Amino acid sequence: MKTIGLIGGMSWESTSLYYQYINHEIKARKGGLHSAPLMLYSVDFAEIANLQHANNWPMLGQQLANIATKLEGAGAEGLIICTNTMHYVASDVSQAVRIPLLHIGDAIANACLVQGISKVGLLGTRFTMEATFLRQHLQNAGLSVLTPGESERNLIHDVIYQELCVGKINPDSKQLFRAIIGRLGENGAQAVVLGCTEIGLLIRSTDVDLPLLDTTELHAKAAADFITSD
Ligand code: GLU
Repeated sequence: MKTIGLIGGMSWESTSLYYQYINHEIKARKGGLHSAPLMLYSVDFAEIANLQHANNWPMLGQQLANIATKLEGAGAEGLIICTNTMHYVASDVSQAVRIPLLHIGDAIANACLVQGISKVGLLGTRFTMEATFLRQHLQNAGLSVLTPGESERNLIHDVIYQELCVGKINPDSKQLFRAIIGRLGENGAQAVVLGCTEIGLLIRSTDVDLPLLDTTELHAKAAADFITSD
């Protein structure tokens, strides 16, 4: 099997899901005592979140590129960035190494292709919903992307940083997300992308009528595909 490098800790609440999902996939595919060969570099998310909110993306790009280089030097044969938001600096990371970066947007686009979905709602941090780095990636793959209005984007952003990234599951926030997902469906979304790796902690497919595309699960599956590829 190939060894994958995880750039994680953003937040650790979802990185621990990645670790579980990747290992579950390897166990399902290979059986017995098999588990995933991987290396995790986990950051202090407080420092990262400060730089995000100061819009210091060049510094974030440099920091993640340094981590990618360390993982490559330690023997990683491929990389994933375990967060949607930090794909803002995906090109800084991929340019710093020779090994492939498995982009979270490709995992989403492939799932849409398989399921025949062409119009999706996108939930995530304000950075993910408002900047182009992920939306454009999905549009380039032929998808139409809907995002909630500004006041809802602000509420979602606050739930992610003030609750989910610190392990708080609030029933009121769950109702809020259900209502927002319902409205995206009324506006024509065929499915909703949980474009933040912690949202799956709050809301599951059984909570809503619309199909959900959980980026943590999809990205972990892409990592398992890489690990088990020839
Ligand atoms: N994990 C989240 C995401 O997928 C948010 C935390 C971050 O800013 O990286 O976007």
